[in-house]
Amino acid sequence: MGKVFNLNSFLYSMQFWTHLSAGIFAALVLFSFVHNPFLFGLIVVVSSLLPDIDSPTSKLGRNNFSKTLAAFFKHRGVIHSVFFMLLVYFFLLMFWHFAALPFLVGYSVHLLLDLLTPRGLRLFWPFKFRIKGFVRSGGLLEVFVFVIFLILDCALISIHLLGL
Ligand SMILES: [Zn+2]
Repeated sequence: MGKVFNLNSFLYSMQFWTHLSAGIFAALVLFSFVHNPFLFGLIVVVSSLLPDIDSPTSKLGRNNFSKTLAAFFKHRGVIHSVFFMLLVYFFLLMFWHFAALPFLVGYSVHLLLDLLTPRGLRLFWPFKFRIKGFVRSGGLLEVFVFVIFLILDCALISIHLLGL
């Protein structure tokens, strides 16, 4: 209460935008190669944001569902793992075939970006080792990554609009 500025939520907000710009990039790259590009793209973008529902401080996680979830799963634990991603992928293959590939694309993009941070990921959960990078969450390098994706997104949107 009365908190004007919450550093933690600011850091996660930054991450949200980085994930969003990267997800849109992946969707735009594949736009011309799929049958239903808008639905495909939408699933890619949503999936590229989805893993952070395990984090109660993230933009996507500020709800009671995520708080309950966070009580069971540590942020960047099982939900941020290849194991969980493949589990959902095979589930989608069986029940909603169309969504399986765009889900895999979006989710992979999210995990790849998180691997770049010093906090890293236990990508091969339940194995304990972490893969880490050096792009600090909310730091200058992350802003740089975000801006690069933003420029690429604008370039790709222009190319699609001009029909090049
Ligand atoms: Zn994440």
